Amino acid sequence: MSDATALERVDAALERAARLEARLHAFLSLDAAGARRRAAELDAHSGPRGALHGLPFAVKANLCWSGVETNAGSALLAGYRAPYTATSVQRALDAGAVALGVANMDEFGFGSSGENSAFGPSRNPWDLARTPGGSSSGAAAAVAAGSVAFALGSDTGGSVRQPAALCGVSGFKPSYGRVSRYGLIAFASSLDCVGVLAPDVERVASVLGAISGADERDSTCLPEPSCSAPAPRSLQGVRIGAPREHFGAGVDPRVAACVRAALSELERLGAQVLEIDLPHTHAAISTYYVVASAEASSNLARYDGVRYGKRERGDGSLQGMITATRSSGFGAEARRRIALGSYVLSSGYYEAWYVQALKVRRLIARDFERAFERVDVIAGPTSPSLAFALGERSADPLAMYAGDALTTPASLAGLPALSTPCGLVREGDSDLPVGLQWIGPHGADEFVLALGAAWQRASAHHLARPALAQEAQR
Ligand code: GLN
Repeated sequence: MSDATALERVDAALERAARLEARLHAFLSLDAAGARRRAAELDAHSGPRGALHGLPFAVKANLCWSGVETNAGSALLAGYRAPYTATSVQRALDAGAVALGVANMDEFGFGSSGENSAFGPSRNPWDLARTPGGSSSGAAAAVAAGSVAFALGSDTGGSVRQPAALCGVSGFKPSYGRVSRYGLIAFASSLDCVGVLAPDVERVASVLGAISGADERDSTCLPEPSCSAPAPRSLQGVRIGAPREHFGAGVDPRVAACVRAALSELERLGAQVLEIDLPHTHAAISTYYVVASAEASSNLARYDGVRYGKRERGDGSLQGMITATRSSGFGAEARRRIALGSYVLSSGYYEAWYVQALKVRRLIARDFERAFERVDVIAGPTSPSLAFALGERSADPLAMYAGDALTTPASLAGLPALSTPCGLVREGDSDLPVGLQWIGPHGADEFVLALGAAWQRASAHHLARPALAQEAQR
């Protein structure tokens, strides 16, 4: 396929995406005409080729894409067309990639299963009765099914890494600030990161090279050049910390065993695996849900029926219009987060909840700082469980939140974290992927990707594909 024209690649991707859509529901929309036009332009252009030349990609529905419905999985933004394009999306386009369509997601990024999308959940290509994870559910499903060469997602507490793990693809959350958030519909601004999902780490790294780097439109974007392609390196002598807390209660023993086996493989490749402690891990979920919900309640205040998306008249008064719009526009999980976030920020409770959570957030970051005095990188499971059945947790928010136990710590500390496939577990009639999470010191994005790429050069786990992707290939 490497000497195929951009148009041939895009046509093949469109055909596959459309054919699988009835089963996967990975996309909220496909822009076949726009993608074909863009691919034809690329083929007609004789100048130097961009790093992502002709690669079809999916755009998570919370990344603004000019002229296209960018609804963040919310009924409140149904029909909302972005007036401009997010920096990350624009840079991917400028590097020659071709945007194929908008990927399904949990409303505003609230969720770990895709079931909070107002437009119905996506399904996992490894087992259509299961969730692909979330909130970048459509992005992960589309990459795993082989419909796109990569996808741009967002990761606030795990939304790129967890679906990557559950779908058997590679997913990377950069250091906070490494990729511009301009044009990313805000969930929790101190945690939100634009991330990348792709079939392998090399591809993730080339996309990150294109989209990262300083952006004057995002004041929290680090004043650094874009990430360079990680130099090939060996795993010899790399000190890998395995946190005891990431293999403890709440982690499916089959997941823990699979990740332990991967760590043994890494040892055989020359790495040194050391047991470490991250003692505040147990507090990560509660800390994350206080901080993230506080910020979400504030970010979502803008959806008042006046400026964006849908409007309900209510009783005709201004307040009535706002109440009616927000009550009918937001789904149950968004309303829950707004209620929780407003509560922890309210006078009388602010010190006890929000300020306390900020203090614990610092302790979690300090755990990592201490660990990185002894080890170069930290590795453990990405998700405590395998892909679960659709419907299994949707009535129990706490069970859903528990799935974020191992991804939220790196988010709270702003660290780069990568999930790579590390094996399959047989359950019933399905093989289900397990993800190995690599967490590096702040700013060590290239290093983490270089380690992940070295591991993939020496192993074959990332080559496993669901039967559905092979069938679509024919
Ligand atoms: N599952 C987490 C949540 O629901 C993380 C979501 C995300 O990273 N956007 O908040």
